[in-house]
Amino acid sequence: MVVLKGKSVFHDVCMGKIVFYKRKEHTIKRYKVEDTEGELKRFREAKETALAQLKELYNRTVADVGEANAAIFEIHQMMLEDLDYVESIENIITSQQVNLEYAIGATSDNFSAMFSAMDDAYMQGRAADVKDVSERLLAVLLGEEESLNQLTEPVVIAADDLVPSETVQLDKSKVLGFIMQNGSTNSHTAILARSMGIPAIVGLGEKLCEDYNGKKVVVDGFDGAVYIDPDSETEARMQEKMQQAKAHKEMLQELKGKENVTRDGRKVKIFANIGKTADLANVLANDAGGIGLFRSEFLYLENDDYPTEEQQFAAYKQAAETMAGKTVVIRTLDIGADKQADYFKLDKEENPALGYRAIRICLTRTEIFKTQLRALYRASMFGNIAIMYPMITSVEEVRQIKEIEKEVREELKKEGIPFKEDVETGIMIETPAAALVSDELAKEVDFFSVGTNDLTQYTLAIDRQNQNLEPFYNPHHKAILRLIQMAADNAHAEGKWIGICGELGADTALTEEFLRMGIDELSVSPSMVLEVRKKVRELDLS
Ligand code: PEP
Ligand code: MG
Repeated sequence: MVVLKGKSVFHDVCMGKIVFYKRKEHTIKRYKVEDTEGELKRFREAKETALAQLKELYNRTVADVGEANAAIFEIHQMMLEDLDYVESIENIITSQQVNLEYAIGATSDNFSAMFSAMDDAYMQGRAADVKDVSERLLAVLLGEEESLNQLTEPVVIAADDLVPSETVQLDKSKVLGFIMQNGSTNSHTAILARSMGIPAIVGLGEKLCEDYNGKKVVVDGFDGAVYIDPDSETEARMQEKMQQAKAHKEMLQELKGKENVTRDGRKVKIFANIGKTADLANVLANDAGGIGLFRSEFLYLENDDYPTEEQQFAAYKQAAETMAGKTVVIRTLDIGADKQADYFKLDKEENPALGYRAIRICLTRTEIFKTQLRALYRASMFGNIAIMYPMITSVEEVRQIKEIEKEVREELKKEGIPFKEDVETGIMIETPAAALVSDELAKEVDFFSVGTNDLTQYTLAIDRQNQNLEPFYNPHHKAILRLIQMAADNAHAEGKWIGICGELGADTALTEEFLRMGIDELSVSPSMVLEVRKKVRELDLS
């Protein structure tokens, strides 16, 4: 038995087989072949397998997130069957008498260069698709399992760390837990694990290596321990822990339908954070009072190109309708830093967390921003949508946003497209600057929501992605709590409400302090809603 220790991000226990995920890096060699017929046959077979994978992916994505988001896998199927693409690969094999892998690589490079050079933005976006389709063929030829979206049984995912564009591919129904070499408790893998309510240990270091692929593992999210090839005594002990965790979950279920009220009668709203519409079922199952943060950037991350207005409208409408009149706070695009989508073509930056991200992209690439706002306003007709803006640092930014909002509303009016006039708009308080000028910001918006993940990062100057800084990471630091208090006082002075949607909102060691500060809403991972409700109901503030 091997025991590894790391940082736990969710309290639960799981047992299963390790699948070690390694990012694909295909290095292609060119060599001469005599049997070109044999290469052509291999091509036909690989193509059939890839097509079958894409069909399966399409069906699963339709079920998960709807037709609009699944369309990309249909496009990929068409590309694989595109005559020019197929002929190019076949011609390279026969005319140069070379291997299939080389022919695929060369075709991929040629076609993607051709698409990139086109004037039309849509066609430029197809460059990434050709590459993707070609990578799929190569993976089939190399006998690689499609590691993240082709899991055949429930497993424990091991990796260095997963970036958001990788987590969106995961077939979540097949993930029992995560064990990561790197990653901090605030990383996106950690947030995903919490939202799925499954055990995850981060920061296990290089000792967690590929040799353990396929081995049996127990992940103890209570102690931050990972047991590889567990002995029978450990396994028995962990079985018991699993039973206890199950009993605790069942006890929490009894809190469904109950109020979030302290013993002395203080009420607080407990909402849920989501990344995609597939999470809505979890929100309902955990009886959240609304959605306090819909991270809309995940719609962009799971796409190979800018999601269209229709695609976005469908997702926002679905959220609004599912929540049936309850508040749904949708945060506008927060791309950049650790959330990268290739098609944005963002420059590599020295300090991405301090760089061109979130509202800074929206205010400078207004066509992207306006498309999203149009979709949001249109969806406002189907429920109680509120719009929230990320990474605000100044009143000037908010005024610029208001100008753009106004233009969008005027355009919609001109086109006779209905929308609600009184959509609430709010901002994230996730920079110290925003907290410090929150007296002025409160006059401009309807609500604040504190993003403690970034507020901690920027206040303590601690990169949220850097596990080496964990010893210095103190989310309970007075500086952060004072900034939250300041924002709460300033919001209330203007009669506005304030919530917390960062991970700290679910930290039950702080629930009492947050309520004493006057926080009106806590938005937490769906799996934490009932846990926080339990805590609130145990408190007496009198
Ligand atoms: C935050 O910063 O606390 C937050 C909620 O936003 P994200 O984690 O998506 O950056
Ligand atoms: Mg943030």
